[in-house]
Amino acid sequence: MPHPAERPHSADPIRGRTNVGDFELTSLSDGIYFLDGGAMFGVVPKPLWQKRAPADEQNRVLLGLNTVIVRTGKHTIAIETGIGNKLSDKLRAIYGAQEQLPRAFAAAAIRPEDVDIVINSHLHFDHCGWNTTRTPDGSIVPTFPNARYFAHRGEVNHGHLQLERDAVSYISENYDPLIASGQMTLLDTEPGETTPIIPGISVECFPGHTAQLLAIHIESAGQHACYISDLIPTSAHLDITWVMGYDLDPVTCIAERKRFYSRAIPEKWLVLFTHDHHTPFAHIALNDKGKPVLI
Ligand SMILES: [Zn+2]
Repeated sequence: MPHPAERPHSADPIRGRTNVGDFELTSLSDGIYFLDGGAMFGVVPKPLWQKRAPADEQNRVLLGLNTVIVRTGKHTIAIETGIGNKLSDKLRAIYGAQEQLPRAFAAAAIRPEDVDIVINSHLHFDHCGWNTTRTPDGSIVPTFPNARYFAHRGEVNHGHLQLERDAVSYISENYDPLIASGQMTLLDTEPGETTPIIPGISVECFPGHTAQLLAIHIESAGQHACYISDLIPTSAHLDITWVMGYDLDPVTCIAERKRFYSRAIPEKWLVLFTHDHHTPFAHIALNDKGKPVLI
């Protein structure tokens, strides 16, 4: 099996562009990184998952870090902010983090100053890393100085607990300074509930990966896209039972995937994937065996 880094993959930091009604979507990448294939596919046997996601000699699979910029005409929204530049040298080496989101913004001619809303689906370090930037003098500053940030209060509380199971996933410099300055609004959206952010943009709680994972709905002129985040991290994870070893509650993930598909498929939502470097977004249908597949 070739090393995933040697597999053909585009280094283009702009992963795709599309329109949803009157809204313009641009998928930007903070780069690729590598996670253990077994952890990514949970109880699925390797002979099955490695057909979809080849592993390197360390059993790692290649993943993307997709930030979606939505321009509504009135607002510029950033959904998710990658890994960022605050990892320790050791963790940066383990994950192969590339820290390229600023370059992606420049390539797309989008200024961080123009982003007025940032939404984090949850607060694992690979989803909110560029909320803040470590400057050369070591200080931590907001990457998006003019933005109001949104995250779930339960994620902040969970991160602060620093539990044995997932303490490593939470880096408080990604959110505590923004909460202290009043720049981050904390949401209390209950599982299954939806909270509007601005017209056409809302968040819905789909628990399982974490207890308060938020999906981001984008709706304009009769069209609908949804950033489903780590409930379905890549297009290799469409099968309802192919949930991750990282998920805190895999049984809930399975139920929540069913709930998601029961609307996303008949209503023809564009599904935005958080960690799929090759397929940042796609429509999904059921095949003749009733399994969800890309179309
Ligand atoms: Zn993730």
